[in-house]
Amino acid sequence: MNNSSGHSFLSSVEHMFDKAADALDLAPDLRQQIKGCNSVIQLRFPVRLDGGYKVFSGWRAVHSEHRLPVKGGIRYAPVVDQEEVEALASLMSYKCALVDVPFGGAKGGLAIRPADYNVEELEQITRRFTQELADHGFISPSRNVPAPDMGTGEREMAWMADEYRTLYPTELDAIACVTGKPTTQGGMPGRTEATGRGVQYVLREFFRHPTDVARANLTAGLQGKRVIIQGFGNVGYHAAKFLTEEDGVRLVGVIERDGAVLSDRGIVVEDLAEHRNKRGGVAGFPGATHIENGLQVLESACDILIPAALENQITAENAAQIQAPLIVEAANGPITFDGEEILLRKGTVILPDTLVNAGGVTVSYFEWVSNVSHVRFGRLSRQHDIQQNERIIALIEEMTNGLVPEDRKSALLSGADELDLVRSGLDDTMRSAYRDVREMFLNHKGISDLRTAAFAVAIEKIARSYQEMGLA
Ligand code: NAD
Repeated sequence: MNNSSGHSFLSSVEHMFDKAADALDLAPDLRQQIKGCNSVIQLRFPVRLDGGYKVFSGWRAVHSEHRLPVKGGIRYAPVVDQEEVEALASLMSYKCALVDVPFGGAKGGLAIRPADYNVEELEQITRRFTQELADHGFISPSRNVPAPDMGTGEREMAWMADEYRTLYPTELDAIACVTGKPTTQGGMPGRTEATGRGVQYVLREFFRHPTDVARANLTAGLQGKRVIIQGFGNVGYHAAKFLTEEDGVRLVGVIERDGAVLSDRGIVVEDLAEHRNKRGGVAGFPGATHIENGLQVLESACDILIPAALENQITAENAAQIQAPLIVEAANGPITFDGEEILLRKGTVILPDTLVNAGGVTVSYFEWVSNVSHVRFGRLSRQHDIQQNERIIALIEEMTNGLVPEDRKSALLSGADELDLVRSGLDDTMRSAYRDVREMFLNHKGISDLRTAAFAVAIEKIARSYQEMGLA
């Protein structure tokens, strides 16, 4: 898809790669090896619907196989095309490398408007797409593992896993062929919320570094910050929910397909979710002003702008008008290369997608690990940890001749369940990825923005692995 300045999403990502590769002075052979996608397949397949046949087009791109399996979501959208999935597959490789998830990058897409089909039809189409992907070796627990993305969720992943299992009934790890499944079907607690949760953890880490906050001309602390979010789907809804309910930010605007709603007093996320579920959009939400041209609201005054819908939203056309001093890219590719150059010149701080939305793939990794090891996290250690804590409490009480307060005692004796472990692993991952990017940004003379720093951290790791394998 071309943005208003004529660049495709793919060429924007390639420009970003070149900028980081130049800063690293990356050898030409490595640059060539890493930059482009290794393979991409287009699939055209018929599905019998409503008495006739309809032909669908889908794609799956594999960017880098320096680690296997390759990993990346499957997008259902009417305008998806080959270049878009190639761009998204490249971002996946950099994202996985940045957060130390041992996967290569991939992405898939099906050109479809899900709202045009009923649930039975969507299931038929998804199963057929899975057969095509399997037939061409583009889905497998050991080589190529899809996940949800725009327009897909745990329902589609459950259908894909079930279809794959039917095709390969003796494959021991078949369930690991996709991630983002329902928890009853081998999914991981916390996967659905993971990308939005990761956005929260990255923002919290940003606010732990006073000099970073000062660079964005913001005051300390997330509490009370005015936030505008574009996209109220999986990522946007969860990010908005956690940031408002747990960190006290004020959600002053939400931009959706049917325009934007603005409220200076702050939007209650669950109220808006209920309204959207009933009415199919945000328009008409009580107590808020509705603006028909949602795109224009990206330019409204706020402290933090979180694009969480789709790519190419901030371009050379509107970048100069963006007022937010801090942009947190929850979506993939919401700012084009040209748009970013304008924002950087006026001092906007941009936390890049490769870092910000890596929470999804991080928890997908946990799910895949749990699937292939056939054990739930914490199963072996939980009772042991609880008993250990019981002994420590008994010792403290004996030595102090007192009693540990009941609330403290029950916190220590509840033990960590799988969701606690997932959140802790995700938090740790997002904190250290932020710090790696920050360190590159502060210490590398040729790098002056966080996206280039994030790409540089990722490219260094991918390059090292190609060199160690003797491939470059
Ligand atoms: P989703 O389909 O659940 O939600 C997307 C939302 O954006 C929908 O509510 C949709 O109505 C809205 N939207 C679409 N076009 C819009 C427009 N022009 N203006 C305003 N709103 C619009 O998708 P998602 O999973 O939340 O993904 C959103 C973004 O996050 C995508 O860029 C995706 O690649 C990225 N992402 C998602 C995950 C994940 O785990 N789901 C992980 C990493 C990155």
